[in-house]
Amino acid sequence: AVPLVVAVSTRLTAQNGLLIRDRAAFERARNLQAVLFDKTGTLTEGRFGVAEVVALAELGEEAVLAWAAGLESQSQHPIAQGMVRGAEERGVAPKPVEAFRSLTGQGAEATIEGRSVRVVSPGYLREHGLSVDDGAVRKLAEEGNTVVYLLLDDRPVGAIALADVVRPESYEAVSRLKAMGIQCMMVTGDAAPVAKSVAAKLGLDDYFAEVLPHQKVEKVREVKARSLTVAMIGDGVNDAPALVESDLGIAIGAGTEVAIESADVVLVRSDPRDVFAILALSRATYGKMI
Ligand code: ADP
Ligand code: MG
Repeated sequence: AVPLVVAVSTRLTAQNGLLIRDRAAFERARNLQAVLFDKTGTLTEGRFGVAEVVALAELGEEAVLAWAAGLESQSQHPIAQGMVRGAEERGVAPKPVEAFRSLTGQGAEATIEGRSVRVVSPGYLREHGLSVDDGAVRKLAEEGNTVVYLLLDDRPVGAIALADVVRPESYEAVSRLKAMGIQCMMVTGDAAPVAKSVAAKLGLDDYFAEVLPHQKVEKVREVKARSLTVAMIGDGVNDAPALVESDLGIAIGAGTEVAIESADVVLVRSDPRDVFAILALSRATYGKMI
């Protein structure tokens, strides 16, 4: 028979929008010491608007957007959706695309008019020994915009600055967890200035920026190595291994299927404040150990 506490807790977790996929992990939640949040789509809305387009070579600004939005019209990423909307708003027609491929957590690539086209993260540029030295781009990045780069035949020809907003719910999620003595940290594939600005707004204890997809899991290990019991919370395909590696993997309900399948608990309402409910209900069900 199911013990009464578990039956009651199942009802309470469901009422609180929690889908418990692994009960042992839910039990571990009572001893949680740190939460590592993914940024885009988890702490932020993941709804991007194009703030500015910068031409770096032979293409003009409109052309930069036409190539980039063409490529992005094939991608599901929130940045891609923002780019397509941005082109539409500016009356720029996206170029038709062939042979699209997603570079998960780093960008996307395709063939357009017989040329190799990529839109990528700053981390991708660095990994590939490319760099962009442009005052306007630097300023946009320092202001906290998410900047991605258009590569045409392996050469940076443009930069697009996009702005996302912190979810209003994230403020309360972080402050309540911190009030319970839980360290709140963030890991992101986005650039350091963006991460810094989000971390400062939310009062996070620590953050990791420009983390390539395969490195997210290393960051979970790094936090574990500080002798902390850590929950990872994310939405993306590239968050999945980190969700598995953490002591408690939490997926945003509106996130990708892969993230949901890799998680121990799913936040059905996609509200980061529900992380607090996990902790409170786990303690109420199993008692606080330590
Ligand atoms: P986070 O780690 O903050 O959740 P993602 O993992 O979704 O962010 O993406 C990490 C970075 O990879 C983004 O900041 C962006 O630079 C780049 N990126 C991923 N997908 C795309 C795309 N379709 N177009 C442009 N850039 C992308
Ligand atoms: Mg994400």
